Amino acid sequence: MNQYYESTRDASITLSPAKAILQGLSNDGGLFVVSDLKDRQIDMKRIVGKNYYEIAEEVFALFLPDFTKEEIQACVEAAYRGKFSNEEVTPLVKLKDGFVLELFNGPTSAFKDVGLQMLPQLTKTALKKTNADYEVLILTATSGDTGKAALEGFKDVDHVKIMVFYPNDGVSKVQEMQMKTQTGNNVKVCAIEGNFDDAQSGIKKLFVDDNFKAELAKENIKLSSANSINIGRLLPQMVYYFYAYASLVEQGEITLGDEINFVVPTGNFGNILAGYYAKQVGLPVHKLVCASNDNNVLYDFIQTGRYDRKRDFLKTISPSMDILISSNLERLLFFASGCDNAYIKELMDDLAKEGSYQVKEDVLANIQKDFKAGYATNQQTQETIRDVYKNDNYLLDPHTAVAYKVLLDDVDTAHKNVVLSTASPYKFTNSVYEALHGETTDDEFILMNKLHEETQVPIPANLVDLDKKPVLHNDVIEKDAMESYVLDKVGSI
Ligand SMILES: *Cc1c(COP(=O)(O)O)cnc(C)c1O
Repeated sequence: MNQYYESTRDASITLSPAKAILQGLSNDGGLFVVSDLKDRQIDMKRIVGKNYYEIAEEVFALFLPDFTKEEIQACVEAAYRGKFSNEEVTPLVKLKDGFVLELFNGPTSAFKDVGLQMLPQLTKTALKKTNADYEVLILTATSGDTGKAALEGFKDVDHVKIMVFYPNDGVSKVQEMQMKTQTGNNVKVCAIEGNFDDAQSGIKKLFVDDNFKAELAKENIKLSSANSINIGRLLPQMVYYFYAYASLVEQGEITLGDEINFVVPTGNFGNILAGYYAKQVGLPVHKLVCASNDNNVLYDFIQTGRYDRKRDFLKTISPSMDILISSNLERLLFFASGCDNAYIKELMDDLAKEGSYQVKEDVLANIQKDFKAGYATNQQTQETIRDVYKNDNYLLDPHTAVAYKVLLDDVDTAHKNVVLSTASPYKFTNSVYEALHGETTDDEFILMNKLHEETQVPIPANLVDLDKKPVLHNDVIEKDAMESYVLDKVGSI
């Protein structure tokens, strides 16, 4: 097994797993990958009968050769034990047309918790292992879910500071309150007058600004990222694919070796890429179904091999999937091209310069062997929330409903189908309530209680009384003031 990760764009840039976690992104803009995925295999016979924690340990051992068994075990325990409301961590629920894998039982009620509870543990351990004598500053732009999950994961972690920027008026009321009420002695939350792209590009600029980094270095601080390009977020997401499969075997739904499908509500391509990794290392997967909303750039790509971001950015009721540049797709391209770093660099240069690229026929064929794609409009998403509630007495959030609609459009009855559920319906109460009852003008927190009374689905503990928690963060800045804000505030946390 190769001990090092390499950049997708340049095989000569390599780092140990611990350093790749601390750095996040390669200096050439590439993403860290191992080129010998096929040499790492999980013995499926060993997975069945294991609990979530034990499966996690198997998966991490395969990808973190510089971490000891004890270190991995300690990270997994600290990340998940008592942190998820369901002791199975990611329980599998059977509905009429398929299974739903609930990934939202963590501290912030979105699937981001699975990665962002683990990343801080890996970061802490990596700092120790590499004898780091500096502090890490995590800068994150968020459209809602990542920010809160990152804050909750990194709060009060020694030698780490975290600052989150979100678009003022660009997140749901629940998401805004989740962030404004964040506790922790090393956190800062700030709204910017702009949209998510402004926040995101502001942060990206800081990551390549040598003067800015030099200023931080004077304070002995290095930048890092909690974005889903970090392998420390990707690897934890592989675990639940194995867990779902083991559950199906244990419940007698399949026999060991049968292939199954996963339908994944997709934005930055991190969740579904973890499924691809799982398949490469031995999980019996037939198809990974990539589900998009009206921002269906990935649907077009998987059909045609042409990726074209030059289109309107549409605001939908599944905002965490409103994205036109799916960063983690770069890793799939790397493997589908036979680990051809130079080719990936070419494609990514095309994307940066032209806003589009076209992959070669054999690369597209490789992708279509493993992936299918579909998409759902806002109206279809709402209809699906309503229909599934009526038929199965189960409440889907809008992101999961997108995937469920894509499943229903083309049900593969020859295989079991698992839909990944990425958020609690209460995180997007307005849209869910509207799907059931039509327009509403009520406050989101009033609706939350109404929805609970009607459906009896419990409100997650972190969202109960959220509107009554003290607001601790009120900063709002212009979009071009991020650099001075960071330098001004970093000393105070
Ligand atoms: C982030 C997110 C997604 C998209 O996941 P990716 O890994 O970015 O593809 C889907 N649903 C919800 C609720 C999310 O927060």
